[in-house]
Parts: sequence; structure tokens; C-alpha cells
Amino acid sequence: MTDTRNIIDARACSDEALQAIGSDVLIVGSGAAACAMATRLLAEGLKVTLLETGDNLVNSDSSPFFEIANQEPFGLSFQIGGATNLWSGRVAPLEDVDLTSGNDWPLERAELDGYYQQAIELLQLKPIGAIDQVPAYDGGSRPWREFVSDPAVSVKRFQWSRPAFNGQDYLKALAGKNPDLTIVYNCRVLQVLPTAAGDRVGAVRAAIGEGRTVELSAPEFVLCAGGLENPRIMLNSRQGGFLANDNIGRFFSTHPKANVGRIHLFKTVKTAGPLFSDHKSGSSSLRFGVGVRKGQKRDQLNHYVQFSPRFESIGLKLLEHAQHVVAAGEGGDRPQSTLRRRLTSALAVVGQVAFNVIGKMGLLGPGGSILVVRGFFDQHPNAEHRVELSDARDPHGLPKGVVRWSLTEDDQASIREFLDELSGLLLRHNIGKLISTLPPAGKPWDITGIHSHFMGTTRMGRSADMSVIDRDGRVHGVDNLYAAGASVFTSYGYANPVLTVMALAMLTADKICQRHKTKAGNP
Ligand SMILES: Cc1cc2nc3c(=O)[nH]c(=O)nc-3n(C[C@H](O)[C@H](O)[C@H](O)COP(=O)(O)OP(=O)(O)OC[C@H]3O[C@@H](n4cnc5c(N)ncnc54)[C@H](O)[C@@H]3O)c2cc1C
Repeated sequence: MTDTRNIIDARACSDEALQAIGSDVLIVGSGAAACAMATRLLAEGLKVTLLETGDNLVNSDSSPFFEIANQEPFGLSFQIGGATNLWSGRVAPLEDVDLTSGNDWPLERAELDGYYQQAIELLQLKPIGAIDQVPAYDGGSRPWREFVSDPAVSVKRFQWSRPAFNGQDYLKALAGKNPDLTIVYNCRVLQVLPTAAGDRVGAVRAAIGEGRTVELSAPEFVLCAGGLENPRIMLNSRQGGFLANDNIGRFFSTHPKANVGRIHLFKTVKTAGPLFSDHKSGSSSLRFGVGVRKGQKRDQLNHYVQFSPRFESIGLKLLEHAQHVVAAGEGGDRPQSTLRRRLTSALAVVGQVAFNVIGKMGLLGPGGSILVVRGFFDQHPNAEHRVELSDARDPHGLPKGVVRWSLTEDDQASIREFLDELSGLLLRHNIGKLISTLPPAGKPWDITGIHSHFMGTTRMGRSADMSVIDRDGRVHGVDNLYAAGASVFTSYGYANPVLTVMALAMLTADKICQRHKTKAGNP
């Protein structure tokens, strides 16, 4: 990679040179959250440094740092830009019900509107209001028209970031234009270190290669290291009463997804609309799904399904296999070879192109008589689903993380109930018969795909009893430590996380700017 004055390989820099960079805010990580956070902070004139463990190539091998035995592989990349080098670009906001149905968020959905708009602008997408105006179905079939306007049907509207926003390209361009941004790569943050009083962070301890560590300080620190590493860094930083909060690492979730059935249609339908295939609408590309509305019940989960023509479904299965290859890594404590990392980087780009093509496959046939039903599921927040420390050690001698997660009986029951309701609605509107392919009760569910939405592990809330950070994104009880990313989600909903990750990171960035200005006596 070609370094510039403000894109720096930590291995080529002395400790003194790194310590002399000088910034108002040190951000750990450079993925979706860090991109949004840095953008806002720089716009307000703050000096920002990103400390990134990876370099410019995909590195999905989490095995040196996490135990993932008996689980599906993790989709992540320790790389400049993080998982935005792999993501598919599907975007939607959280709904009101996600923040209200007994979920303890300290924010109202309306408070996020302005930040969603900023995230939409960063991703160069259409405003949410404009997408809400697009008809869910305007084809020739009366049953489908009536189905989508049934008050019990909740149409889930997604747009695609196409080509998918890439954090690495974005940050390199931003650093090229803005000398107040410094990106230090090959720099893995191990711990945040408290000051003697224990109520603030004084520095982060970072590893540069094996055997060399350096302490870097700044007035404010933000963890944007993803839903697995944010809690692991905090857990590995505990000393005395510092970061003793028992909620760190808890309430993990990961949006289980899988094909869950087929609809045998009573009458074929043209698959050219956004309900059945990727659909161009002006400068946007759209795809819609279907949930059911049950009123604002306290324990309501917000699932949805996507209807896929069979061509598309086969293409998606093949792509998922390829994503397994990228995510699987080599295992063990050996670093991946550069050749393998170059290959997986190339595969990630090919995968994103393939994804765009697959979305159009619904258009291949004149009409479909069978639709594959792909489910994307919400989960009940569960304190026992967690990232915790194991007895095994990482290459820097710190405890690895271990992820404990399952699809509980309550979650499974909610998914079955949802599919039953959907099945009833499809019959009532004379559309077709939904044949579930879910396993019988008591049998294991093959329902995860890859884990790629790591949510909840440093959740937001009103008090330290139930959460790790407050409504500003600041860690309870620690004056200058913040967290951003999907780890701050209090509940999960159905929406893929990036839009909310960016919106919340921008909200937190504003709070940091306000504090900075107040401290500088310059409100
Ligand atoms: C295959 C795939 C498809 C996806 N598709 C979608 C989609 O269509 N829509 C959507 O909304 N979401 C999607 N996602 C999820 C989305 O990419 C993530 O939710 C999002 O990137 C999370 O942002 P983040 O900044 O919290 O974490 P990340 O983007 O993972 O960034 C974390 C960063 O921190 C760095 N880091 C980690 N540990 C350390 C450390 N100790 N020190 C220094 N740096 C560290 C990492 O290298 C990385 O750069 C997908 C993910 C995958 C893997």
C-alpha cells in the first residue's frame, strides 16, 4: 500500500512519531461506524486519528482472537474499511416498533431522523421518504395488489448502495483531502487504560506486530472496532472498578437468516417488481420484503421474508458458499498468507458484483409459479447471549473472546408464529400455499447463514444496570470513552445495521463536538 503523510504503517513508525501525531479524538477501527464518526468530527474541525489493526487486504480470520467452535463462520474483515469491504449494501432504517416494544432504547425513533438523513447522504442514497412513496406492487395481479395493502402486511423497504459504499476507498479519499485525518494501520488496540482516578481513559495500549506495544493518548476515545472486538477490548481493560459493568459483552445477536419455505402460487406472477427482484427506480435500486403487523405488542419481534424467484435463490445459495470461503480463514494462530488474502480480497469484489447480478435473476423468467421464501429474523434481547473472555490466549497474551449464542425456543416460536400468520394472509388473498421447510419442533435449525451483523454487546440504555453506554454513546461512568457500531444496539429489528450504525455514530460525534467546544470555551 502507498503510504502518505497521513496514512501510516505503524510498523514503519517509531513510538515517538506515533505519539506525536496529536488528535482531539482517537478512534479504534475504520469500518462503517468510524467512517461516519470521522466524517462528522472532521466537518466540525476536530483532529481525528483512526487506529486500525488491518491493512488494505481482506482478513476474515478471527480465530487468533475468538473461539468459534461449532458455529457458522463470522463475516468480518480486519482491514481498513472493516466489513464495508464485504457488505452487500442493503440499507433500511429501524422502525418505531424496534425502539418502543419494551426494548429500553433511551432514544425515540424520531430523534434519529436527521442522523438517518446524514447517513443517507454519506452513502449517496435516496431519502427514506422518497422510498416510502414507491408502490410495493403495481403489476397486473389483483390478489397481490390487495395483499400488499392489507393493514396486517408490513412492507419492508430496502434500497441498495450500488456500487456498495467501500470504507477503505472513502477514508483514503477523505485523508487525501483532509490533513486533520490520520489513519494508522497495522496497529491493534489491546486495551484502554484508565487514569489514576479511574473515571477517564488516559491512553490506549496498542500492539504493532508481535512483541512491540505503544501507548497513545488523546482527550477523547471512541471504540469502533465492531460488535465482537468492542466488548473484548473493554473486558480486557478491566482493572479495579474500571469497566466493571456486567453488561459488557451481553445481549449479542446476529440476525439469523435462511430459506424457510416455498410458496406454490395459485396463479403465476410477473417477477419484475421490487417485491420479487432488484428494481431500478430513478438513481436507486430497491428491494422489498414482507412482515406482518400485529400492533405494538411489547414482546413483538420484527421479522420479514423476501420472495425470491428460483433462479435468484440458487444464485444466492452459491454466493453464500463463496462467502463461507472468505469468512472461514485458515484457523489456528498462524496469520493468513498474503497470497490467500489477495485471493479473498479479489473474491470479495467478485462476490459483490455477483450479488448485483443475482438480484436481477428474478427477471429471467416471464413469470414465477414457485417463490422461495427467505427469512431474515429478529431476536429477543437475551443477557446470556454474550461475548466473554475464554481461557485461551491471543498472540498478544490476552484472553481470546468466546461467543455464546443460540436461537432460543422463544425466538423459534416467534418465527413459527410469524410464518403461520404470513401463510394465512397468502391464502386469504388467494395468492398461494406456503410450504414451510422449517425443521420439526425440537430439531436443530440450520438458520444462520454466516454471522455478519454483530449487535448488542455494548448496548445503549438509560442506566448502567441494563446497558453499557448512555444515549450520547458514552460509556456509563467513564468520562471520555465512547462506543459506536452495531454493538450499541439495544434491540435488533429486521433492518441490516449499517444505516443505523452510521446514524448513531453521527449522533455520538455531535455529542463529542459539543463537549469539545464547551471545554474549549467556544460553544
Ligand atoms: C458479507 C457481509 C455482508 C453484509 N451485508 C450487509 C448489508 O447488506 N447491509 C448492512 O447494513 N450490513 C451488512 N453487513 C454488516 C455490516 O458490514 C456491519 O454491520 C458494519 O460494517 C459494522 O460496522 P462497524 O464499524 O461496527 O464494524 P466493522 O465494519 O467490522 O469495522 C470494525 C473495524 O475495527 C477494526 N478493528 C477490530 N478490532 C480492532 C482492534 N483491536 N484494534 C484496531 N482496529 C480493530 C477492524 O479491522 C475493522 O476495520 C454485512 C457484513 C458482511 C460480513
